[in-house]
Amino acid sequence: MVFKGTGASPGIALGKALIVEHSELVIEKKSIENVDIEIKRLHDAVKISKEELIKVKEKALLELGEHEAQIFESHLLVLEDPELLDQTIDKIKNEQVNAEFALNEVKEMFVAMFEAMDNEYMRERAADIKDVTNRILRHILGIKVVDLASLDEEVILIAHDLTPSDTATMNKKMVLGFLTDIGGRTSHTAIMARTLEIAAVVGLTDATSKIKDGDYIVFNGDTGEVIVNPDDETKEKYSKLKNEYQEYKESLKLLKGQKTVTTDGRHVELAGNIGSPKDVEGLINNDAEGVGLYRTEFLYMDKEDGFPTEEEQYEAYKAVLEGMNGKPIVIRTLDIGGDKELPYFEMDHEMNPFLGYRAIRICLDKTDIFKTQLRALYRASVHGKLRIMFPMISSLEELLKAKEIVKEVLADMDKEGIKYSDDVEVGMMIEIPSAAVISDVLAKHVDFFSIGTNDLIQYTCAVDRMNQKISYLYNQFNPAVLRLIKMVIDNAHKEGKWVGMCGESAGDQRMIPILLGFGLDEFSMSPISILPARKLINSLSYEKMQEFSNEILSMGTSEEIKAYVNKNFNM
Ligand code: PEP
Ligand code: MG
Repeated sequence: MVFKGTGASPGIALGKALIVEHSELVIEKKSIENVDIEIKRLHDAVKISKEELIKVKEKALLELGEHEAQIFESHLLVLEDPELLDQTIDKIKNEQVNAEFALNEVKEMFVAMFEAMDNEYMRERAADIKDVTNRILRHILGIKVVDLASLDEEVILIAHDLTPSDTATMNKKMVLGFLTDIGGRTSHTAIMARTLEIAAVVGLTDATSKIKDGDYIVFNGDTGEVIVNPDDETKEKYSKLKNEYQEYKESLKLLKGQKTVTTDGRHVELAGNIGSPKDVEGLINNDAEGVGLYRTEFLYMDKEDGFPTEEEQYEAYKAVLEGMNGKPIVIRTLDIGGDKELPYFEMDHEMNPFLGYRAIRICLDKTDIFKTQLRALYRASVHGKLRIMFPMISSLEELLKAKEIVKEVLADMDKEGIKYSDDVEVGMMIEIPSAAVISDVLAKHVDFFSIGTNDLIQYTCAVDRMNQKISYLYNQFNPAVLRLIKMVIDNAHKEGKWVGMCGESAGDQRMIPILLGFGLDEFSMSPISILPARKLINSLSYEKMQEFSNEILSMGTSEEIKAYVNKNFNM
């Protein structure tokens, strides 16, 4: 049996399948004779669930840090919420139904209520409610829950999806890989798999119903190919691939401490993208030469009761600047809106939120929010090499207005005698086609550009980056996108400014030769892509890549470009 899903985390895995959970719990309605027995079944299951969650939380705190452990704190809060239990008990009493049926009904009511809320933060709480109530339901039903924490043989986990509890508690040494029915490259499971460096394929649709416990599986976390009970020849092929991949990973370690430089001597900067100071550790492990994008919105999204104060922001920025030991750090000012909302900041419902009130548009409107962030950034600037970057600039007017506010903030700080570095670079993202088109003009007013291909692709091609149905149109090899990138780099270089890229394309092995040839100066990507990128760049000639990328610019379709890249690089 052969499956094809989305390669979510690189690596080759061979081993026995362990089904973690069958897709749906079967809950039957039963009439009961004794209400007290049902209430006791409920309480007993809640008690065991609570003990489990406390253990899970402690383990997560030790192994994954405070941020990850917070998920379980939310789960405990759900568990302790009297509304959930009281309503379930009322239902058992009033309707004379079994505990699992009553709890499931109450769960569905709460989940539907939270999922219908306007606020994304509240919508996400629906997943917590499901996760916790399903845990209780399994205990009521006496369903054997695979105890991932005490796995004692090597397995490949097969699940509908893995929950944060699963990934936090499992005995990672015994997990050879994950396969899930649902999810895409940016789903929780995919991100966790990459962070834990465990091979994974997601979005397999019906893996849990077609694969059985103990089946022998081989899969490729890059290509998304999964084979169940393969013949000896296939097993041998995958075993060879696995060895090659291990050797490749070992060879990457040798690249730590080396420069990123082409065979003919062009140096480029390899930086990492982060969402919080905690991510600095991953960057250091992978030898990043700096931070090319710190998405500060997570600092705002992690708060529940109001904007982070100047002091809170200062501490976070300082931690990153100091943590990276003087290496350059690009911190992006607040990029909220689109798909990112704040629980404490009311935003109108919009027809097209990605084209709406967001990012720099909010900051230029609510200047208090912007000024607080700028003050925190400049105060932190004395602790390292800071580069400030504005997101979503679409015109020269916006850029000039943002720079004017920076001047006002610095004038205030001067008056108050607050120190800041006089060496802070100020740049902007190029992620809107109108900015790319006038990049010759914009380049005169910035120290650098960073190209955000995630948005540049969606705006250039009019393809919503979240819409699965049209994802076939969302393509980094689109010739229009490539021409814009080349134009931006040339325009910046004419003004003597450097250009980076912090969209996903910068870490894409097939895009790197093209971008290198275009003259990109800095590549910023997720930490695990850094050493593979260095390996590739160190094997390429800049001069040859210039010729190669020029040829690509003459091509008319993404398919032609992809085929040309594949042919030249055996990908
Ligand atoms: C981008 O648009 O490419 C980018 C890096 O920003 P984000 O993914 O945060 O929108
Ligand atoms: Mg963007």
